[in-house]
Amino acid sequence: RDVLLQVDGLCVEYASAGEPTRACTDVTFALRRGEILGVVGESGSGKSTLITALTRLQRAPAVTSAGSILYRPREGGEAIDLVTLPPKELRKLRWTRLSIVLQSAMDALNPVMRVGAQFVDVLREHDRSLSKAGAWEEARRLLALVGISADRVRSYPHELSGGMRQRATIALALACRPELIVMDEPTTAVDVVMQRQILAQVLRLRHEFGFAVVFVTHDLSLLLELADRIAVMYAGRIVELASAAAIYRSPLHPYTRGLRDSFPPLHAPVSRLEGIPGTPPDLRALPPGCAFADRCPAVMDRCRTELPLLTLHDSRAVACHLHDEEISS
Ligand code: SF4
Ligand code: MG
Repeated sequence: RDVLLQVDGLCVEYASAGEPTRACTDVTFALRRGEILGVVGESGSGKSTLITALTRLQRAPAVTSAGSILYRPREGGEAIDLVTLPPKELRKLRWTRLSIVLQSAMDALNPVMRVGAQFVDVLREHDRSLSKAGAWEEARRLLALVGISADRVRSYPHELSGGMRQRATIALALACRPELIVMDEPTTAVDVVMQRQILAQVLRLRHEFGFAVVFVTHDLSLLLELADRIAVMYAGRIVELASAAAIYRSPLHPYTRGLRDSFPPLHAPVSRLEGIPGTPPDLRALPPGCAFADRCPAVMDRCRTELPLLTLHDSRAVACHLHDEEISS
């Protein structure tokens, strides 16, 4: 009942001359209403691919080759599969049901339009009865929500600091009261102080408006503060999914453990993880067994040949042969 999004068996492939490359494989999870789900992984783990598939922002050569993303509107009624929804129907859901905040606020804001005017456009496109004056008023109110003074509605994006721009895009994402906001590394371009402020604001606004968030980042320490649950991705698959507290206190997957123990400095791209030697495998040539086997301190013979599958068990799931028995019992 309280599931907002049910993702099942989602696969995303990149077409290429030979065999297509799988960037996401069999991704399955449920997002609850009002929940903040963090998705963490190194670059190439498939986390950004997952986001673009969820929001249908992906472009060729990436294609969703299998699976479903069932969205359950708050009024009840039929669930809508976002994978097969016609573009026209999808556009109706954008902003009003599902908003997106990307890494670079500069990409999201139109540089030659006043910030307030962009709010006015979005607001009036989705509520034709809203007057221009009413929309400008609402733009001021939304900016105030993220701590930006009302007179900034007349500013151009380049006149705002990077942190303000990013907060403005979050306010814009909120404009039509969506049920879900998808955020892809929205704090990578701002300093640590601003990052903390933005995270605190996301938490406060979620409390106030009750939207759910899928928040993608390479930074596990950030998610430990922000997220209710965390999905850890490796080589295109979710390898562990559990509450933030469980991920912090008792990670089950050796990769999650390594991520937790590395705690990279905020903002440093995770190019090398101290706790985890080696690099992620080439997605074009994945081994038959566990994709983490070459880096795993606990690797066993069967890990080389048998693929560990993510097994859901209560509120926790892990894909590792070390935990096959515990999970399925
Ligand atoms: Fe390590 Fe084996 Fe678990 Fe993979 S399945 S993470 S190689 S123990
Ligand atoms: Mg990315």
